Amino acid sequence: MPQQGKPPSNILLRGSLFVLRRKCGKPNCHCADGDLHESPALTYSLHGRTRILSLRPKDVNGVRAALGRYRKVLAQIEKQALDGIQSLRRGIEQERKGRLRGNRR
Ligand SMILES: [Zn+2]
Repeated sequence: MPQQGKPPSNILLRGSLFVLRRKCGKPNCHCADGDLHESPALTYSLHGRTRILSLRPKDVNGVRAALGRYRKVLAQIEKQALDGIQSLRRGIEQERKGRLRGNRR
């Protein structure tokens, strides 16, 4: 039987972890007195809207790790993109300088 609730260790997740507090609706439950049920959840935005995914407690560690991986990859991509701008800028500036100097051809 395949192991359930165990995503591959390299998945990425976007969003943040938080604790969902809510009433289950049963009138006799302790949550009716304000002692709300707490469950872990992932909140993320999609197409401009905030979405919530309720998690099982056993998901929390893996989700936290996947959020960390995402931030790391994102930081790498951000750095690569800024490096790209830098090198494009250098190329443009060098050509400009060369043109100024090479006027008397
Ligand atoms: Zn309840």
